[in-house]
Amino acid sequence: MHGGNSVADNKFVYFFGNEETEGKNSMKDLLGGKGANLAEMANLGIPVPPGFTITTEVCLLYLEKGVYPEEVIDQINNAVIKLEKVTGKKFGDTENPLLISVRSGARVSMPGMMDTVLNLGLNDDTVIGLSKKTGNDRFAYDSYRRFLTMFGDVVLDIEHEKFESALSAKKKTLGVIQDTELDASALKELAEQFKEIIRKETGTDFPQEPRKQLQMAIDAVFNSWNNQRAITYRRLNNIPGKWGTAVNVQSMVYGNMGETSGTGVAFTRDPATGDKRFFGEYLMNAQGEDVVAGIRTPEPISTLKDNLPEAYARLEAIYHKLEDHFRDMQDIEFTIEEGKLFMLQTRTGKRTAAAALKIAVDMVNEGLIDKRTAVTRVSPEQIDRLLHPTLDSQAEFEVLATGLPASPGAAVGKVVFTAEHAEEMAKANEKVILVRTETSPEDIGGMDAAQGILTVRGGMTSHAAVVARGMGKPCVAGCGSVTIDMASCAFSVSDVTINEGDYVTIDGSTGSLILGEVELVTPGVSGELDTLLSWADEIREMGVRTNADTPHDAQVARDFGAEGIGLCRTEHMFFGEDRIPAVREMILAEDTEVRKAALDKLLPMQKEDFIGLFKVMDGLPVTIRLLDPPLHEFLPKHEELADKLRSLEAEKGSDSEIERIKKIMERVDSMVEVNPMLGHRGCRLGITYPEIYEMQVRAIIEAACELKAGGMDIVPEIMIPLVSHVNELRSTKEDLVEVAESVMAEKNCKFDYLVGTMIELPRAALTADKIAEEAEFFSFGTNDLTQTTFGFSRDDAGKFLPVYIENSILPSDPFAVLDQEGVGELVKIGIEKGRSTRPDIKIGICGEHGGEPSSVKFGYNIGLNYVSCSPFRVPIARLAAAQAVIEKQDN
Ligand code: PEP
Ligand code: MG
Repeated sequence: MHGGNSVADNKFVYFFGNEETEGKNSMKDLLGGKGANLAEMANLGIPVPPGFTITTEVCLLYLEKGVYPEEVIDQINNAVIKLEKVTGKKFGDTENPLLISVRSGARVSMPGMMDTVLNLGLNDDTVIGLSKKTGNDRFAYDSYRRFLTMFGDVVLDIEHEKFESALSAKKKTLGVIQDTELDASALKELAEQFKEIIRKETGTDFPQEPRKQLQMAIDAVFNSWNNQRAITYRRLNNIPGKWGTAVNVQSMVYGNMGETSGTGVAFTRDPATGDKRFFGEYLMNAQGEDVVAGIRTPEPISTLKDNLPEAYARLEAIYHKLEDHFRDMQDIEFTIEEGKLFMLQTRTGKRTAAAALKIAVDMVNEGLIDKRTAVTRVSPEQIDRLLHPTLDSQAEFEVLATGLPASPGAAVGKVVFTAEHAEEMAKANEKVILVRTETSPEDIGGMDAAQGILTVRGGMTSHAAVVARGMGKPCVAGCGSVTIDMASCAFSVSDVTINEGDYVTIDGSTGSLILGEVELVTPGVSGELDTLLSWADEIREMGVRTNADTPHDAQVARDFGAEGIGLCRTEHMFFGEDRIPAVREMILAEDTEVRKAALDKLLPMQKEDFIGLFKVMDGLPVTIRLLDPPLHEFLPKHEELADKLRSLEAEKGSDSEIERIKKIMERVDSMVEVNPMLGHRGCRLGITYPEIYEMQVRAIIEAACELKAGGMDIVPEIMIPLVSHVNELRSTKEDLVEVAESVMAEKNCKFDYLVGTMIELPRAALTADKIAEEAEFFSFGTNDLTQTTFGFSRDDAGKFLPVYIENSILPSDPFAVLDQEGVGELVKIGIEKGRSTRPDIKIGICGEHGGEPSSVKFGYNIGLNYVSCSPFRVPIARLAAAQAVIEKQDN
């Protein structure tokens, strides 16, 4: 491997373009992607304009020392001599001058990092040579003024605008609009003006000596590796600074030499759909930048067949060859100079998610790649895109505000501010977006009725985010620039006001809020997705379960390939309209007897819930977590009660009703916690109110007994939340086992069940060996574990995390992407310690990270048995789990 500053064999310059080509495709680390592929094309006998690549090693040596090793200069000089020989042209020659392009080329393409310098080698003398040689004065001076601009801009760091305004002034003086209307003498004058700009801006003359120009251009490309743009790009794309860039020096070919010349770009398959057809466009009599700049409208590649049939036939043969060789869809650039075709670049083509999937599956069917390779060709993020509607890429819109991309997909609808209103409107077939400061479990119905959800507060694991992901609904959370004014039924973002009933569009994949209706595109999930995922299943070793609390969600997840339920949050079952009165009765009960009576009302409902889930899962494991959130979440809010009290008093309501409300208010107030996330929740509830957990366990066991009697095989997994000390688990478990055994005795039914725990507090991870003495399985609750490891409130982190990420204090939102270094270390410790006590303990993860690709891969590498995620992320997890295996094997 070539890396760091080690000088492998003192070879710094690699020639390409003829039979003496020295590089190849596998040398991307050293030659960069562009250089390696140019060499590979030459090796395949494909015509590329000859040139040479200066290695990434030189970049690193130069950036470290500020000078080049001596051999580098010698090797560049020799390569130039060889280039002159191969092309029959000479650098600086006034008869037949060699002109070259200088381009950067890192291991992976970094668009926009460094511009290109074309036509290098032109000066006041060689421009005359070029004119004579081509018989085209205009062409020569047009090339010269373009070179002066690029050299001035890219190498000498002069503002591009300076050249642009001189060009505009010239056009104005001459009364012309297009650059192409400028004649040779105008361009000649421009070249003089441009040299003057260079003199003025740099204090020195434009370097006329081609070798000096070349050296300066090479320096500039290497220095560009550390410019701000490149550093930012690397940070955003996780590209290590120690890679460096290569420099490609290549002889120029011209697509603008007349009507038998042209230039174009093409893809070997349709990059939008993946269809197997040659796809691209070109311009006759033009240079590459004209195609990109959009000055003229390019023609579809198919018409090249009529314009230049021979060149087209060669191009067609080449694209087949390239695709067969690289075994992937290629993005190619070509130039035809007076009927002769040259390839300027080939690289793996960027494609849409749909195209990635189709190409991967098609290529296996065509025998080009194997299934294992196909599984690596589609990213889990692309799968995510395929499962949700997206904004039409052709649509024009302005983003009004940005929040967190809490649940992917785009949605359009009329603004509503309450869950009830959302439900009413939905019943009337209206599409709505539910806008809330934050959502609470009471909003479930409205969330379900809405197309999408927007919240002002809350992070990636806030209630809105978790529930929306579970429902597969778009959600933008924590959109702090939105101010809701409930009194006037409107919200505002700076000076824009949006009233209830106005249309908005949200994009939960990017966190955008857009005013008005944007066209959406709903991707069709094709049979290809099932095919690819079935290949992923053959490879992956880790299980994929789902987080689901309703039979509907459980069914969606099963259809997506879930192999069980890893987390059923039973609290979500307490919010049903038919349950909340009993739940409140239970909470407000002043003694155990009254509480038990209320729980008795809930028991049959809970039992039905579990029967529903067990049935959908049909023998697959179902992990049911006992009640977790603080009880006050189920009670009405203080303000609501105060309102009610006021109106009762005003309307002279009955004393007993006033008394009742007052009592509830007292109880609500007494239950208020300063820090509910760290308060009276999880197993602490089970310990203080054991009858709640007892009712839940009874419901689970009775449900299982009933289904067992019907012949279904069920192994319920009962999970205790928020354990930090083994004694909490021991005491809770003792109680539960007693209930479970007595229910089984009552029902005369015997079966296995497991009692396990969430590991979601640092102390639990650190003492997992002790906890494993009691726990029969672990499920890492990485939402709470992230909250408590960082000390970041799940509900309030939205206020500062965006700033952290913007300023690179954290690489990403740790509630979305597992912090492997910190939280991940605790998970690792938890696994090791847990297995030290109970070697075969089953361990999973059920925090939101269970459906995030990098976290899934990490989970595999540290030995998890399964991940559990929201239904719509099951396909993502399946693919990521397979890729984890492949990546491990390949490393
Ligand atoms: C967790 O904390 O990661 C978890 C799964 O539980 P919840 O999100 O319900 O707190
Ligand atoms: Mg939790």
